[in-house]
Amino acid sequence: MRYETVIGLEVHVELATNSKIFCSCSAHSFGADPNSHVCPACCGMPGMLPVVNKRVVDFGMKAGLMLNCDINRTTTFDKKSYYYPDLPAAYQTTQWFAPVAVNGVVEIETSKGKKKVRIKQIHMEEDAGKLVHDIREDTTHVDFNRTSVPLIEIVSQPDLSSAEEVEAYLERLKTLLRYAKVAECEMAHGTMRCDVNLSVRPEGSDKLGVRAEMKNMNSIEAIKRAIEYETARHIDAIENGTEVLRQETRRWDDIKGKSYAMRTKETAGDYRYFPDPNVMPVVIDDAWFNEIKSSLPEFPEVKRARYTEEYALSDYDAEQLTKSIALCECFEGAFEVTKNAKDSANWILSEVMTILNARKMTYDQLTLDGRALGTLILLVTGGKVGRANAKKILAAMFDDPTIEPEKYAEENGFVMSNDTGKAEAVIKAVIAADPKSVADFKGGKEKALMALFGKCMKELKGNCDPQTLRKLLIDEINKA
Ligand SMILES: [Zn+2]
Repeated sequence: MRYETVIGLEVHVELATNSKIFCSCSAHSFGADPNSHVCPACCGMPGMLPVVNKRVVDFGMKAGLMLNCDINRTTTFDKKSYYYPDLPAAYQTTQWFAPVAVNGVVEIETSKGKKKVRIKQIHMEEDAGKLVHDIREDTTHVDFNRTSVPLIEIVSQPDLSSAEEVEAYLERLKTLLRYAKVAECEMAHGTMRCDVNLSVRPEGSDKLGVRAEMKNMNSIEAIKRAIEYETARHIDAIENGTEVLRQETRRWDDIKGKSYAMRTKETAGDYRYFPDPNVMPVVIDDAWFNEIKSSLPEFPEVKRARYTEEYALSDYDAEQLTKSIALCECFEGAFEVTKNAKDSANWILSEVMTILNARKMTYDQLTLDGRALGTLILLVTGGKVGRANAKKILAAMFDDPTIEPEKYAEENGFVMSNDTGKAEAVIKAVIAADPKSVADFKGGKEKALMALFGKCMKELKGNCDPQTLRKLLIDEINKA
């Protein structure tokens, strides 16, 4: 019998707001001392009064609209009760009855073509703290810096059916949320986390099989491996009776490449959801809704089409640039200055990419000012700075975003010289010092010319037009 895998995802995304969801503590405590970013509200002290951070609702709405959801114009917060040492109030404030966004859809593309994945809902909630286990002292410490850091949970319908689709879906979420600048979505940093609900059923059946929920996955590769392992485990159980499948929560051990049962899956009733009386309902009026709607970016596909039509870029260039909003902004800034789309795209897709790769930076970490890049490009096309030196200036601009390319070129001796007298003097000295290369070139060895050319260019610190230098050099050799 043939089987199909049915997968739904719950994706937690940390929102990139400055402060926490219900208090003014900083939401960014990376590297900070434990429990240094806390107050009575985020520590769940009795009597504390949480106040909803408006930016969190802004971002929740933006995420909802990017994923084609309907926005609940009155959205409310609820208590999800459970006990765990990293949850000081013994309940998490989340959204159950009226989440900020519902009924969305995201289109993905895989080797099998395009597919629509329905979004059940997006709800806003607070993160829990962190338990830090100290093996040497045989103790566990609790750090509340992360409590009440704002999250959204994006719940999909069970519309996914393979590891490839899951990967495409996660990539799509990442792109859309990064375009809207609401989240970093970096699994390696913990700003995107994913629970996978998976079951297996005979192909063509419309009945769902027994569902397992897998937690504890922190990379797309781990998620893909876990899906393949679980699919095989379920099929084996159904076909060969190796075990009785239960609805349960499982932990994925990426090192062993296996999943283990943690607990039988809780039902909603176990959490005693009820409206949080301390948090007022949030009413989104037309003005607020429209403000958020008009602040949304162009969708990647719309941008891509515009880049090929308006700027006459190739499909490939447009696709590469629109992979990240940071690349798009850099390109659009550079174009404003150069008015030359091809040059602007080429510089980003070659020189800028080279530096990003060498520094192991993601596209979204690019902070280079597009207009400054445009100025640098004009210095090169205008013959003021040589390409090799322009690359050095570009690297410096990565380190210091305040650098003005023209000023920097002047201050650091990167301006091309039109002084042929200076070039000729250098050429004469180089020729005199290397009669062998001169003789080799005269004897027909083209490579010898490149050696001489390289020495001259080095002496001139790259500040000479290569065509001119080459011509002067050949003239001088012929005279010798
Ligand atoms: Zn706080």
